[in-house]
Amino acid sequence: MGIFSEMEEYDYEQLVFCQDKSTGLKAIIAIHDTTLGPALGGTRIYDYKTDEEAIIDALRLARGMTYKNAAAGLNLGGGKAVIIGDPKKIKSEALFRAFGRFVEGLNGRYITGEDMNMTQQDAAYINCETNYIVGLETGSGNPSPMTAYGVFKGMQAAVNEVYGSDDLEGKTVAIQGLGAVGKLLAELLHEAGAKLFVTTRDQAKIDKAVAELGATAVGQDEIYGIECDVFSPCAIGAIINDKTIEKLKCKIIAGSANNQLAEAKHGDILEEKGILYVPDYVINSGGVINIIDDISGREYSKENAMKNTAKIYDACKKVFEIANRHGIPTYRAADKMAEDRIASVGKIKTIYNRK
Ligand code: NAD
Repeated sequence: MGIFSEMEEYDYEQLVFCQDKSTGLKAIIAIHDTTLGPALGGTRIYDYKTDEEAIIDALRLARGMTYKNAAAGLNLGGGKAVIIGDPKKIKSEALFRAFGRFVEGLNGRYITGEDMNMTQQDAAYINCETNYIVGLETGSGNPSPMTAYGVFKGMQAAVNEVYGSDDLEGKTVAIQGLGAVGKLLAELLHEAGAKLFVTTRDQAKIDKAVAELGATAVGQDEIYGIECDVFSPCAIGAIINDKTIEKLKCKIIAGSANNQLAEAKHGDILEEKGILYVPDYVINSGGVINIIDDISGREYSKENAMKNTAKIYDACKKVFEIANRHGIPTYRAADKMAEDRIASVGKIKTIYNRK
């Protein structure tokens, strides 16, 4: 693998390799683009089979954060870190503090947070060495409630686009995954009068949704073919793929899962089928919007976070407008919205200003 050619392909700024023999730390920090501000993106711990796999994942995830942060209207660029190793074996206070020192060494060019296989305690150890970390229990904390609220607002925007009204009363929504986000989203939808179809891996969660929210339980494969207004993927990525796309009988796809389209062509096929796809990184950005107070050093305000997250409605509407105006699928319209913002801010005239 040619590291510089990989970086050149999508114009990455910086790739940092962090090694500390005494703690066993092997980490990679990828900074994609800081035109809009410091690169924000969580740290993922994963047992990658090869270093190359870890580099590619860090690069891919960092670029995804550039688009997500730009589309959310945040003054933040995109970055991501991966710590290589089995999360059940490698974790220690010293390892996270060693990583924290590397983050501190970037002097604010990269701001981290929790991602896959990381806990609040792990984040607290990193915070012993650097303040360039967000989403701590002492700050904005668990992002899932705001992510769920943002998906709810984005779903309203999509329903408005298709049916001419935000009202979810009587609309049918098929939710895949009742985890941290899916469960809260189901509650919000139930309160709004939607009829729910649900599936998840944990039977107890299904039973609870049936008993408390009047949801109808369906099988894990059955969820794709449910005739409904909205299919809401809130479990895993790549669920819109060659096998599932022909089964879909929904009018809208709006859910929290990351990387819902297995390949770009699936976004084109949804467009051809007349299904309105709400781009994942636009609708699921409530979690990053939730950390605005942490970044600016203000005390966390849930009210402010909700006010800002509600703007996901407008962001989704803007994506639909760009898609309609340019005759392009919504997933491409979202990229265009993010790229246009970065390009326009990047073009601001440089004036002499003695520091
Ligand atoms: P979670 O792990 O708490 O929940 C995922 C749920 O999906 C689990 O209950 C699991 O049983 C279920 N599931 C897994 N595979 C399934 C399958 N094949 N069929 C049906 N159910 C299945 O995760 P979460 O925090 O709720 O996040 C859900 C999705 O949203 C993920 O893709 C995540 O990356 C994305 N996301 C989450 C946040 C957040 O704030 N938590 C923010 C942005 C994006």
